[in-house]
Amino acid sequence: MAADAPQRDPEPRLGACPDCEATIPRDGLLAEYTHPDEWPKMLAECPGCGEVVSPR
Ligand SMILES: [Zn+2]
Repeated sequence: MAADAPQRDPEPRLGACPDCEATIPRDGLLAEYTHPDEWPKMLAECPGCGEVVSPR
């Protein structure tokens, strides 16, 4: 009995591909940037189209 299952992130995905709308899993994360005046930006590989995109 696994009573101590690890607490997982409730949202294990980064967002959706702006090109093909595929859901991008957290595994796809390649890089992350923070801008002082903007939202953090992420680069991830889309499993749908294979491009490196910024999930939204
Ligand atoms: Zn895509």
